[in-house]
Parts: sequence; structure tokens; C-alpha cells
Amino acid sequence: MNILVVGGAGYIGSHCVRQIVAAGHRPVVLDSLIYGHRQAVASDIPFYQGDLADQPFVRQVLRKEKIDLVMHFAAFINVGESVSDPIKYYKNNVVKTLALLETMLEENVKKFIFSSTAAVYGMPDTMPITEDVRKAPINPYGQTKLDCENLLASLAKAHGLSYSVFRYFNACGDAVDGTIGEDHSPETHLIPNVIRAALGLAPTLKIFGNDYPTPDGTCLRDYVHVDDLARAHIAAFDKLGAPGTELHFNLGTGRPYSVLEIIQAVEKVSGKKVPVEFTPRRAGDPPELCADATRAREFLGWKPQFDTVESIIETAWRWHSTHPNGYR
Ligand code: UDP
Repeated sequence: MNILVVGGAGYIGSHCVRQIVAAGHRPVVLDSLIYGHRQAVASDIPFYQGDLADQPFVRQVLRKEKIDLVMHFAAFINVGESVSDPIKYYKNNVVKTLALLETMLEENVKKFIFSSTAAVYGMPDTMPITEDVRKAPINPYGQTKLDCENLLASLAKAHGLSYSVFRYFNACGDAVDGTIGEDHSPETHLIPNVIRAALGLAPTLKIFGNDYPTPDGTCLRDYVHVDDLARAHIAAFDKLGAPGTELHFNLGTGRPYSVLEIIQAVEKVSGKKVPVEFTPRRAGDPPELCADATRAREFLGWKPQFDTVESIIETAWRWHSTHPNGYR
């Protein structure tokens, strides 16, 4: 299949491009390079720099490359920024997704895979989280993803769009060969920040709160390797044949780790001590998020190959220790 990967030069998108090639399909990348990195995509993969909402441009790419299915990773992801600048988030994450979908439908491209997030659930009462739990985002970032999910449901019914939504828990890790990896600026995610502190690239790792109702007082999260996320997307390709198919999957390992456990795992993998500093809670952090990914396991035959956090951190350590400035 010819797969258009929108946001294919970003962190999750670029890992997905590689897995698409490994699975014998043909990826085509479209990325604005606002946050993506040209070096994250191999030079032999068709690459189009531009905006996903530029309809004549996207139309031309869909036609020229005979695209069968579109995967969309091109969202803004900084929760704090979504709170301070919601217009930016609704414009990029919702309005531009709407434009992309409109172009696709006009061109009769009706298979779509959407990157969503555990943030659509907000602070659920039950753990682990199944797909049917009430969606109640607590920040504009999560709300923009939920708005797109609702749009997809309407388009499936009105126009026969077939789609799969993947709600990621904590995406992490990097390519096993150490050649592509996570490079956000600023970096807000835990594992890269712990590694940066271990490498001496940051004075300390700030631990945001140790007074949560959890066993060690720090937040619990479900960390899942980016290549495992990518493999779930590819397993969904075959399930989108019937018009109007609507699929929703959580992706996580089902084993939560605390912030302190992640620090210990980085120390074990790297052999280095991580200097830490306890600071107040970060606004909007729920105490625990853990996936029930039974549906992905049963329906897609998905099984995370990285099933311990140490195995994930080994890949992250390899990337960050050899690329202390990311792609720069
Ligand atoms: N965290 C932290 N220090 C950091 C970054 C994150 O203590 O420098 C904590 C954060 O409060 C949360 C967990 O680590 O409890 C995971 O945060 P991350 O930003 O990686 O992912 P999120 O769960 O917010 O999507």
C-alpha cells in the first residue's frame, strides 16, 4: 500500500515510517518541518515539505503518489502550551485535521489512522483504562484530540471513512540501531529528561511532586516503546477494508512505573547517578495512567516487544548518549 505519513519527520511518525518499510509497504512523508527533522527520514523516501491544511498541495501529493491510506501524526503536543495558547492548538490539531480529511474525501482516499492520546480520558476513576471509559480531557491538548475523534465518527457515518484511532499512553524509546530518536525542543518528557540529567546536560532532574496517592508518592505512567506503537498501526491496515469501519485502541504495556522507578532504571542501564530535585506538582498531571490494551492484543494480535522499561530505556540511552543535541 502507498501510505501518506503526515508528520512523518516527527518522533512517532519517523519511527512509523521505518516500520512501514519493514512491513513491505511504501511510505510517503509530508511534514512542515516546524517541529519535525528532515534527517529523521531516509533520503530514499518521497518527502514533501508543506502544510497539511494546504489543500491544493495535499491534493497533488495524494494524486501523484496514488495514496491508499493516510496516517496523521502532525499534532502539537505540549500540554502546558495548550493551556496558555489554546487557539494555536485548536487551529493546528483540529482545524488543520479537518482540512486534511476534507481533501482526502474529495480525492476518495477513505482510510485513515489517527494518533490520539490517553489525555482524552482526563482523570478516570478506574484503572487500568479501557477504551470505553468516559472521555473527559482536563486540558485543551486532550480536548483537541477528542474533537478530532468525534469528527472521524461523523465522517465514517456520513462518507464511509474507515479509520483507526490509537490512544497512546507514554510513548518513549528510540530506534534500536540508535540512528533516529526523540528530539523535542523544549523537551518535557520524563525519560529524555532523566537521561539528560544522567549525562550532565541538565543540572538535575526535577521530580514534579512526591505527595501523590501512589506507593512512592510520585506519578505512575504506562511507558510504551515507539516501535511497538508503530507496529500496532501497521497491524490495523488490514482492518480498514469495509467502508465506515471505526476502531479505537489503547496502546500501553499495562505495567505502570513511578517517576522514581524510571530514575532507578536509567541509573541501572547507564551506570550513572541521576541528580534529582523535588519540586511542586506540575499542573494537570493525574496521579496514575495505565492502559488496558486487551483490545489491541486480541483484535490486532499486537504484543509489545519491549515489555520491560529497562529494555526501552536501553534504546533511549543509546540515542541520547550518542546524540546529546538531538539532530543538531
Ligand atoms: N515528570 C517529572 N519531571 C520531568 C518530566 C516529567 O517529574 O522533567 C513526571 C511528570 O510529572 C509525570 C511523568 O513524569 O508524572 C511523565 O511525564 P511526561 O511529561 O513524560 O508524560 P505525560 O504523562 O505528562 O504525558
